Amino acid sequence: MIHFRIDVADVATHRYRVTMTVPAPAAETVVSLPVWIPGSYMVREFGRHLSRLQARQGKQERLPEQLDKTSWRLRCEGRAALVLSYEAYAFDTSVRTAFLDDSRGFFNPTSLCLRTHGREAEPQQVQIGSLPKGWDVATGMDAVKGGRHLYQSADYDELVDHPFELGTFWRGQFEAGGVPHEFVVAGAWPGFDGKRLLADTQRICAAQIAFWHGRRKPPFGRYVFMLNAVEDGYGGLEHRASTALIAKRADLPRQGMGSPVPEGYMTLLGLISHEYFHTWNVKRLKPAEFLHYDYTRENYTELLWFFEGFTSYYDDLMLVRAGLLDAPRYLKLLARTLNGVMATPGRKVQSVAEASFDAWVKYYRQDENTPNSTVSYYTKGSLVALLLDLRLRQAGASLDELMRGLWSDCLASGLSEVAVLAAVERLGGATLAADLRDWVHGHDDLPLAPALAAAGIQVGQEPPSWTAALGLKLSEGPVTGVQVKSVLAGSVAARAGLSAGDELLAVDGWRIRRLDDARQWLPPEPAPFELTYVRQQRLRSLTLRPDPVVADVWTLALGERPAAKALGLRKAWLGR
Ligand SMILES: [Zn+2]
Repeated sequence: MIHFRIDVADVATHRYRVTMTVPAPAAETVVSLPVWIPGSYMVREFGRHLSRLQARQGKQERLPEQLDKTSWRLRCEGRAALVLSYEAYAFDTSVRTAFLDDSRGFFNPTSLCLRTHGREAEPQQVQIGSLPKGWDVATGMDAVKGGRHLYQSADYDELVDHPFELGTFWRGQFEAGGVPHEFVVAGAWPGFDGKRLLADTQRICAAQIAFWHGRRKPPFGRYVFMLNAVEDGYGGLEHRASTALIAKRADLPRQGMGSPVPEGYMTLLGLISHEYFHTWNVKRLKPAEFLHYDYTRENYTELLWFFEGFTSYYDDLMLVRAGLLDAPRYLKLLARTLNGVMATPGRKVQSVAEASFDAWVKYYRQDENTPNSTVSYYTKGSLVALLLDLRLRQAGASLDELMRGLWSDCLASGLSEVAVLAAVERLGGATLAADLRDWVHGHDDLPLAPALAAAGIQVGQEPPSWTAALGLKLSEGPVTGVQVKSVLAGSVAARAGLSAGDELLAVDGWRIRRLDDARQWLPPEPAPFELTYVRQQRLRSLTLRPDPVVADVWTLALGERPAAKALGLRKAWLGR
């Protein structure tokens, strides 16, 4: 058994100290830190924050020999345990690495715990050692009976799948599907309504457990939500028995919060639902390529449209099923996703299968060209799920059935595209399977309008916002001014010659603080106007010639009097 003792070394300089014990080491023992964390598809080089690595065996010092950016070799003699000690710098507030200051600590073992090559299948223990006064520990890892802050996992894969939260956080419990769940919240402000958060999360969990297992128990004995509330931030990372979340403090439920639920809190519930759905979809039902993670390099799969896209489809849909989101509001969220994809020229360049494979260098490394060269496997993937669900329902089946079928058939083997297509063919026929292959590998827009209409949804169109119609993505503020972040390919702004990085100063000679200010003096109908801007320190100007207004922004609503078949389908889908 490999043992790690993790001490808070210094909160002011953000350093953990790790003492690692490898019993009966091999004569040549190689240790390394992962370069990535499963669930976040980018090489992050955790080893760059490791320092002061020392080793000894009994009284003998062993000199670590560095082999590459992230691994070391120790030459050992005899059976005496090899003891390594090192420091890890931790000052990233994201959910993917590690953090430490005087208010809180957080870490994923991918950032702190070295892998002993050839010993990955052994149990791995974590002892949380010295902590600042009053601090507590939360993790989904199993506690060792009788130990204080002592935890154990069956192997290295499990070890690195359990983040730890340290500090003086709020914590609450509930039960769902007969299994205890815990919610810890760090950084909440006074007036935070923990009871409400627990009650709503409980409904989400119950709906999802029922979705996968009916009345049977889920495949985990305990689950922990760890939420870090911050001034500004959003995200989550899924794990087998827990999730680490980051959200805006202002989006937490407040005591006395009325209805309808504020948009920010609905977004937080969607995030909770998303990460919890991953407990099944990607943590257990996985791409075949992920059955054995390679921690030394990128792990490619073409299937993130399924694992992230389908999870994104179900996250808000589960809020509907849990009674937390009504159908009209759900359709507004759906329309927003749809319009986001339609406003991305990159959807004509990249398929969702390509986007999945390239996640490592594209989705996770976004720049000004991202909207023109890529499509999100989250958003377009969720629309593929929607369309597949509607088409399966027309054929008398549903995506729910498909998911449960894949769960029972592909857990051990891992999922492949071939298996998904075969399952679709069984439930919906060969034509639908061929269509799905086109949606996933093609660049055409998805034929969503007829499928939505057939489900009793009224599809409308309205004009885009003025700045959106120009094809500009902007960063605007009283201090920064109006900065162009991206220019969408083929747009009015692209034709006029604007570029990312340009600073927009004036319209027809009038100073602007936001581009939208100009609407106060421009005529209501589209007409050319003069734009003054700065590029590379030089003052320049050009003429923008807006296109005629085209109502191409989708709106979705419940149709008033749908035909009986459409209404039946809609009721089965949305309950209305
Ligand atoms: Zn996800």
